[in-house]
Amino acid sequence: MLQPALSLVLEALKEIRESQEKTFRVSRATLNRLLESRRHQNVPDIAGRAASLGRVRDRVCVCTKCPHLARSRTQTVFGVGNPDAELMFIGEAPGADEDARGEPFVGRAGQLLTRIIETMGLSRDEVYIANILKCRPDMPKGTPGNRPPTPQEMQTCIGYLIEQIEIIQPRVMVALGATAVEGLLGARGVMRELRGKWHSYHDTPLMITYHPSYLLRNQSPGEKRKVWEDMMAVLEELDRPISERQRNYFL
Ligand code: SF4
Repeated sequence: MLQPALSLVLEALKEIRESQEKTFRVSRATLNRLLESRRHQNVPDIAGRAASLGRVRDRVCVCTKCPHLARSRTQTVFGVGNPDAELMFIGEAPGADEDARGEPFVGRAGQLLTRIIETMGLSRDEVYIANILKCRPDMPKGTPGNRPPTPQEMQTCIGYLIEQIEIIQPRVMVALGATAVEGLLGARGVMRELRGKWHSYHDTPLMITYHPSYLLRNQSPGEKRKVWEDMMAVLEELDRPISERQRNYFL
């Protein structure tokens, strides 16, 4: 019932915008956002999308395609957020904190990502966050820290992320770090050359930026500012207003 109602609203807004009467006004950005929401007319509603994601999650929970990771993980880390999200963040793999909690980006890097999202005027519940790999890459016993996934591990797991993207159909995606880029686009590149530019993932605009853990290692204000500029480009692509305070913000 929601889509016919949305169509009526769209028609009414168009009429208002095109009429000579100036009593009511609708911004081009608002109209574009409503029009964009029509993209979802042919896909299941939000409850349907949540159910579809649930079915993929059920398969991931019991997945043993990488026997060594299935043995070493505490649990799989599927993804979190809005099944109807306009914006999707993609990282590389769970670390120790994520493996313990079963949720992506909850450690120190995750807290920084949350701050970035909130400074964008969004919340973790509004976007969707997932990784290329759903299991924590194993480490030799007693060795602290995390390791990046191997190309073989990414190739084995990427199908689940592709299913998540196809169900959610985000308007914009953000790849966090070189490993996420390699998992999504199949090629490893130099981050300083890749970031800050629009790329495309099957016709969905893809912004590449540094992984938050890189910013934790490299506290240079210049590098932090670059990530923030990438996020402002994302807000513009989403037709979201950017305040003066946001424009002057440094992470
Ligand atoms: S990393 Fe992915 S493919 Fe490998 S066992 Fe975990 S869920 Fe399965």
